Amino acid sequence: MKKFLTYFLYAVIASLALIILARQIVKKSVKKMPEVLLRYEDNYSLTYAETIEAYKSLSKQHITAKLLTYGTTDIGKPLHLFVISKTKNFSPDAIKDKGFRVVMVNNAIHPGEPCGVDASVKLARDILENKDGLWEIMDSTVLCIIPMYNIGGALNRSPYNRANQNGPKDQGFRANAKNLDLNRDYAPMTSKNAQTFAQIFHNWKPDLLIDTHTTNGADYQYVMTLIPSHPQELPPMLGELLSDDLEPFLYESMRNSGYEMIPYVSPMGQLPESGLQQYINSPRYTTGYGKLFNTITLMTEAHMFKPFKDRVLATYEFIKTALVYTNMHGKRLTDARLEADNFVKHQKDFVLHWQLDSTMKEEIEFKGYEAEFIDSKVTGGMRLRYDRSKPFTKQIPYFKHYTPTLTINTPDYYVIPQAWHEVIHRLAINGVQFERFEQDTTLSVEAYYIDSYNTYPRPYNGKYLHTNIEVRKEVQDIPFYKGDYLVSTNQLANHYIVEMLEPQAYDSFFAWNFFDSILQRKEYFSPYVFEDFAEQMLAENKDLRERFEQKKKEDKEFASDAYAQLSFLYEHSPYFEKSYLRYPVYRLNCN
Ligand SMILES: [Zn+2]
Repeated sequence: MKKFLTYFLYAVIASLALIILARQIVKKSVKKMPEVLLRYEDNYSLTYAETIEAYKSLSKQHITAKLLTYGTTDIGKPLHLFVISKTKNFSPDAIKDKGFRVVMVNNAIHPGEPCGVDASVKLARDILENKDGLWEIMDSTVLCIIPMYNIGGALNRSPYNRANQNGPKDQGFRANAKNLDLNRDYAPMTSKNAQTFAQIFHNWKPDLLIDTHTTNGADYQYVMTLIPSHPQELPPMLGELLSDDLEPFLYESMRNSGYEMIPYVSPMGQLPESGLQQYINSPRYTTGYGKLFNTITLMTEAHMFKPFKDRVLATYEFIKTALVYTNMHGKRLTDARLEADNFVKHQKDFVLHWQLDSTMKEEIEFKGYEAEFIDSKVTGGMRLRYDRSKPFTKQIPYFKHYTPTLTINTPDYYVIPQAWHEVIHRLAINGVQFERFEQDTTLSVEAYYIDSYNTYPRPYNGKYLHTNIEVRKEVQDIPFYKGDYLVSTNQLANHYIVEMLEPQAYDSFFAWNFFDSILQRKEYFSPYVFEDFAEQMLAENKDLRERFEQKKKEDKEFASDAYAQLSFLYEHSPYFEKSYLRYPVYRLNCN
């Protein structure tokens, strides 16, 4: 028996060795396959099919690369993720245990802006073929590329999808199969694309996330501009690393590459000379989402008028530069992220609203074109024209400092009744840890009442967004049931939890319509029946009687409106529903 076991073991080892050898041979034997041709020099961007084919081919040729698929998207196709890993291991946890950093690139969230698609294929090939010694920059970094995030939009190709852009010949459409702008969908996650993205993002936990775009707006000399995470929104140690170390490195390396870069040109006035401002982006955007998990996010915005070839090459240089940084200074990044994670776990105060401080400015060098306002031959009004024969270099103001205008102190727990399963689902796919009640129980909790809010008059990305939300707090005894959810605010996802569950946050689930059923009353009264009860209430409740009389004195319209008066009394009666306008996620403190 012992002998048999030994032979069996030898046989297993030999078979495994043969399988590994066969895999190597197969990988090598497909090296001669014809490659999908990159044609960005001819103003052509790869289609969805060509892009996936290019990565499939790389995955077959190189044992250090793999094309993975995740979930699905609104068009019914899965999201792909192409991974280059020197370790030949493609399990994120195992790779991270070896001390590797993860740089993730997201392409074609706006498929009309596809320079990242072609840049990423070119860079993946150059790295894997060790062009100019590029293999070296992968010594401690794993590169994860989402070839095309908005597949539905990428399949909707036309020469007419971007009116203000210089090529490529055909480009995809901004919205996805459900007509959603995915760069507004990270908070509500209405699309399957966003939900699958969350799966990839939390699986790989990127140290840097690069989201590739093409600009709209002003004209100037630079091919590349950058929207990074805002340092003030990150924990201090990570914000400092971004502004004092990573950003200077990126700007200097890009200058050396021949594609000098500046911050995204978002002018304070009509022209860039009026000064540029950096935004703080809320969680609906890539940068706003990444920061919730301490992932520094870098949105590249290549300039719309520059030839497609230059936009591709500038994006290529940017991704390469980010990889060089993580290879050279990855430990700094890992240390800052670890410290930031620990900071967020114990963070009690979160800023929900910010205001740009226009009294604090820096000066930056800006290479623009002279602009003039001339008579329009179309409208009869004035039109703006940039004169590219008159380039200039000037110092211009740059505004990036923000003041907090609303800060929230977190409770020990948020309590969410299981009825709100769409919210629970989104928290779960974003890595939030829960406990569940094991039995029915009544707890004294803080409840918010929505005092006032505005609603967009027309849909915004498929929803009727609420803004200017004002709340008041009440302590109430609320019954909870077996299976309801307790969310501790002592976890890695704290920033996400607060931004999504505090109703006043710009991109809270409340703002995005997940709790709209609380905004409508469900019971009313018949005036002729309620009249008797109202009379009795006034007789028995002196305080109410005085407030009622006072209101009639002060408000003539009220004094002459019988229904309004009865409504006032109904609202102060025990019949009035407590759940009306009561936000159903409760705040629980343990002492
Ligand atoms: Zn874009």
